[in-house]
Amino acid sequence: MSNQKTLSIIKPDAVKAGHVDSINLMIENSGLKILEKKEIKLSKEEAQQFYAVHSDKPFYNELCEFMTSGPIIVQMIEGENAIELYRKVMGATNPAEADENTIRKKFATSIQENAVHGSDSEDNALKELNFFFKDI
Ligand code: GDP
Repeated sequence: MSNQKTLSIIKPDAVKAGHVDSINLMIENSGLKILEKKEIKLSKEEAQQFYAVHSDKPFYNELCEFMTSGPIIVQMIEGENAIELYRKVMGATNPAEADENTIRKKFATSIQENAVHGSDSEDNALKELNFFFKDI
């Protein structure tokens, strides 16, 4: 266990549906702290770069379209074991497989429109935080 920072994104579906405050309450109730928060709209190029690891997947283009379809909230989150803890709070990628009381169980509508993103490793957390927040 160690103190970690991770990247959280509230995706266009959840922003559009007005779930930002409810999602952030779930994050804070898990003991995590939201250090930085900003609303942005990704360009097509930024979405493609952010999800480059998925460029060979059949859903890549659709995913990039979705992520540019409206504003998103990008957040820097901190806490003990934050990377794993936040992923637990998010729930499984596919909301049909997500545990009760997870963000995706409550707010995701499909495997693609699944409300939130969270970094999945220390290396990716650093890379992804650097993508949106300079000088971390
Ligand atoms: P995550 O770490 O739980 O977000 O999942 P992944 O890294 O595997 O996938 C990144 C994002 O791509 C997911 O959060 C979804 O928005 C989307 N995605 C993943 N799998 C699928 C799929 O099978 N179909 C579609 N349309 N989108 C997917």
